[in-house]
Amino acid sequence: MNDSVESPYRVPFDGSFELDRYSTRPPPDAPDRKGLKAGLTEAVDELADLQRILYAHNHHAVLLVFQAMDAAGKDGTIRHVLSGVNPTGCQVFSFKVPSAEELDHDFLWRTARSLPERGRIGVFNRSYYEEVLVVRVHPEYLRAQRLRRAPDLLAEGDRLWEERFDSIRDHEKHLARNGTVILKFFLNVSREEQRLRFLSRLDEPEKNWKFSVADVEERGHWDSYMHAYQEALRETSRPWAPWYAIPADDKPFMRLSVARIVVERLRRLDLRYPAVAPDDRARFDQMQRLLEAEG
Ligand code: AMP
Ligand code: MG
Repeated sequence: MNDSVESPYRVPFDGSFELDRYSTRPPPDAPDRKGLKAGLTEAVDELADLQRILYAHNHHAVLLVFQAMDAAGKDGTIRHVLSGVNPTGCQVFSFKVPSAEELDHDFLWRTARSLPERGRIGVFNRSYYEEVLVVRVHPEYLRAQRLRRAPDLLAEGDRLWEERFDSIRDHEKHLARNGTVILKFFLNVSREEQRLRFLSRLDEPEKNWKFSVADVEERGHWDSYMHAYQEALRETSRPWAPWYAIPADDKPFMRLSVARIVVERLRRLDLRYPAVAPDDRARFDQMQRLLEAEG
């Protein structure tokens, strides 16, 4: 099951991932802006072609998971990378604070209901990974989940996060065995770049709506988030569900990097338009003659 796309940003599968070693900036030899944009156009076109065949082939589903700190550029990346794809062939789901109904189920339930069908590309803008990220940073959120351990949440030695990693690994392996191709992207933005992006949300009136006081408060937990991300990526990057930690301080570079990984992974699926069976062929030829004779 290792058709995963190599990349300097791929998170190793052996538990050795250290977030510090992954840059938030593009490498010095990255193409210039024009080159990045041209590359993206090319990748977007190819993705559109591949998606058409994915749909016709109807064997695989594709799940793209996006996780990041606020203002890292998840929405823009999703919009750009999928801009060429037929809307019928792709489904985007955003997961926010869980509802009362969602909290009454296990933590994989709400996303499981939104998994892509065969032939489709499903995008998760945030995902069940929030359960080992925001919830890990704010363990008090567990109270609303009414787990068997409440109210003595996370006593010394509690293996809750390890158990969640087990659940996630099992879930993803199950999906992969059953035809879902999983790619996970952590858009790795620096704390300084996030500060600048928040400031521009305040400066520019048409960006004001994006500004959230809560986001600035979350920023205060930066180190806890980075720790949670490191653990989550380290524990759940596997050949059948690799994580990529993409430098996110430069948006065009980030978008191109994501698009190329998706395209390369789809190329490796050996997608084909279904062949017409010999019996059908004969019928088709007959129909063709009939239709032509009508004209
Ligand atoms: P946004 O995507 O910026 O609109 O924000 C959605 C918010 O929902 C983020 O602050 C997430 O951390 C939060 N969120 C998403 N999933 C969960 C979850 N399972 N538990 C608690 N908060 C969550
Ligand atoms: Mg937000």
